[in-house]
Amino acid sequence: MEGHITCVICPVGCKVSVRKEGVQYTIEGNRCARGEEYARNELMMPKRILTTSIGVSNGTLPLVSVKTPRPIDRARIKEIMKEIKNLSIAAPVAVGDTVVEDIDGEGTPLLATRAVSCNGGREKTTLPT
Ligand code: SF4
Repeated sequence: MEGHITCVICPVGCKVSVRKEGVQYTIEGNRCARGEEYARNELMMPKRILTTSIGVSNGTLPLVSVKTPRPIDRARIKEIMKEIKNLSIAAPVAVGDTVVEDIDGEGTPLLATRAVSCNGGREKTTLPT
């Protein structure tokens, strides 16, 4: 088996060729070790950072953008999105608020990436730790 993967780790976008012989993979065309790791992960268990939005009740905006702080198993994203579709959070929301503690069963949280204040105009602030 042989194929190509474009490494998306940096803007160079190396075209990485992957050849499988038995249980052995040969990875070539990457300019650095990160490309090899990326190609290996794409073959074994592709992961993606999940970015989406969820509903906000009593907020100045109807939705708030959210994302996982690290990539999660790509194969589970569809199922996780179905769960997220039914979620909503009450305003106020601050950047970095944890919307879901563990979205993938692996301990990955879902975090708010923007602030939404209450309809009354009060903004939630988060103090630095
Ligand atoms: S292999 Fe290295 S240099 Fe090439 S795109 Fe990936 S990260 Fe960038």
